[in-house]
Amino acid sequence: MEQRISFQTKLLHNKWKIDRQTGAVSVPIQHASTFHQFDFDTFGKYDYSRSGNPTREALEETIAELEGGVRGFAFSSGMAAISTAFLLLSKGDHVLVTEDVYGGTYRMITEVLNRFGIEYTFVDMTDLHEVATHIRPNTKVIYVETPSNPLLKVTDIQGIVKLAKANGCLTFLDNTFMTPALQRPLDLGVDVVLHSATKFLAGHSDVVAGLAVVKDEELAKQLYKLQNAFGAVLGVQDAWLVLRGLKTLHVRLKQSSESALAIARYLSGHPKVEEVYYPGLTHHPGHSIQRYQASGFGAVLSFRLADEEAVRTFVKHVRLPVFAVSLGAVESILSYPAKMSHAAMPKEERERRGITDGLLRLSVGLEAVEDLIADFEQALSYVKETSSAVSAR
Ligand SMILES: *Cc1c(COP(=O)(O)O)cnc(C)c1O
Repeated sequence: MEQRISFQTKLLHNKWKIDRQTGAVSVPIQHASTFHQFDFDTFGKYDYSRSGNPTREALEETIAELEGGVRGFAFSSGMAAISTAFLLLSKGDHVLVTEDVYGGTYRMITEVLNRFGIEYTFVDMTDLHEVATHIRPNTKVIYVETPSNPLLKVTDIQGIVKLAKANGCLTFLDNTFMTPALQRPLDLGVDVVLHSATKFLAGHSDVVAGLAVVKDEELAKQLYKLQNAFGAVLGVQDAWLVLRGLKTLHVRLKQSSESALAIARYLSGHPKVEEVYYPGLTHHPGHSIQRYQASGFGAVLSFRLADEEAVRTFVKHVRLPVFAVSLGAVESILSYPAKMSHAAMPKEERERRGITDGLLRLSVGLEAVEDLIADFEQALSYVKETSSAVSAR
């Protein structure tokens, strides 16, 4: 009888823990681009590394198991995974997309897919009624990101899946912020789970990679065909780096999420912070849905200072986090959406979505939380107290 083991243990004790040929306890990196065929009539499992490679396959099978799917696919970036999944669509199809979707996905939909006759509508997916009213007869995909970036809005996954199924659409979900350690969308009825493995899965700011997982065999066949046809596969060194990062996923996310909650609470009580966005805070509008559909709140939060001037002062004085794009790493990363992820968006549109000049996003790493809080405390002491911050108290 097979023993049921926890996610944490599965990260280490899986099919790939020992190389059958040598006993090696790390997956061998197979550099070969081509494979000798021993039999003239029957070819072996591998022939060419774009179509299949043992190292990449180890990662693909691992993520499939962790997400509870039948098959996983590894790509050269998160955007390569997302873009390849969109190739499931055809001319004349319509896709319904969450309003605060990742910037690269926004660009792919609005500047590339549109040229191929794929229509789109952006909606606020926290409002299921709004989603329902925008479904068209040609809607083929509902595209979800939850919690969203950078405002951490929570979408009811099962609510979306219900609408999608009733209207014959597929549900795609970008699970980058949660990872299967905290949220398993396929169990909730989602069809395609997508990842920027660059973030928490690899976890060390040293590799760019993407993953996709499906739970339906037919969809798996179609996506495999597209992966091989489009060819944006992950290189073997990078596949190995993601596999290594995955081993510590549980412990990294656990620590970072605990620290994120502590920092969110600290910032909520600070007079110079106007607002804090973190689903772990009980007053967050998505708190109860998040508790229901995920097993944690994650390591990313956003907070609002008065204005750009306040942000400038804070960033100038803060010492520990790196000031950079990206997230999901061992070191804390502080980002400024107005000038980074959402720089391309017109200011009015950006502000309408709540991404104002005072908004900062923090991805919490593995530093001691008291060090991070002390650092924020000293940096905030330089920020001028404004009348709006005072009245917000
Ligand atoms: C970073 C990111 C992506 C894109 O992934 P890349 O690996 O940078 O191509 C997609 N979705 C989310 C939520 C991300 O954070």
